[in-house]
Amino acid sequence: MKIGYPNNPRKDVMDEIKWIGEHFDFIDFFMEPDKAYYDVIDLNAIKKALKEYGLDVVGHTAYYLPFSSPIKALRETAIKEASKCFDAFHKLDAEYVTVHANWPPPLFNAKEGLEMQIESLALLIEEAEKYGIKLMYESGIGELDNYTNVAKVLQALPKLYFHLDIGHASLHGRDVCKFIRKLHNRLKHVHLHDNFGKEDLHLPIGIGKIKWEEVIKELKRYYNGTITLEIFAPRDYILLAKKKFEEMWKSL
Ligand SMILES: [Zn+2]
Repeated sequence: MKIGYPNNPRKDVMDEIKWIGEHFDFIDFFMEPDKAYYDVIDLNAIKKALKEYGLDVVGHTAYYLPFSSPIKALRETAIKEASKCFDAFHKLDAEYVTVHANWPPPLFNAKEGLEMQIESLALLIEEAEKYGIKLMYESGIGELDNYTNVAKVLQALPKLYFHLDIGHASLHGRDVCKFIRKLHNRLKHVHLHDNFGKEDLHLPIGIGKIKWEEVIKELKRYYNGTITLEIFAPRDYILLAKKKFEEMWKSL
């Protein structure tokens, strides 16, 4: 198991790499505006810093790319932008990159939303393949991001991997252990953070209501890959959460 942390895309990417490199095994590279998008970053300098710290890269594209916009031109533009990120990730030697669930506005029903997503994801998978990149699907925070819909997306796209965000999968009374049990064959990456079941708060583990003992036990049964602490808190709290998580992973 490897533990990573994401850069804050609103902050200087080199400073972020330095801190992550000092404390974690890999960077979950949030390739987003305004300071970490492909069009402003210095790939050579980043590559050098990553090497210096021995940091691996897991790629992460912006969660708000409108892959399921009812407006075709926006969907196409979103795919083009993602593709430019894949190119940059390839240059940073990333093998796996996250794309996010995206749903059209509620004027369109769930079935239509699934169709739009699957159509865009199929094109994204093709684009990513050009750069030797494999895509992972991170489900979101809405009610439609339930087990049934996630399973349908993965079933329709056998080349797509599953990125389990434990915080997202715990919202709306969902059973996160069911996602682990049923989808572990496709599971390639995990985001870990806490909440109270209603809002996506990205809290340190143990602060919210997620039953971490149960979840970590279930996760350990099936998974031993990359785990990002997607906790948005002051740095000392992030390191406390890391220590707590490492202890739980060891002892459970
Ligand atoms: Zn996440």
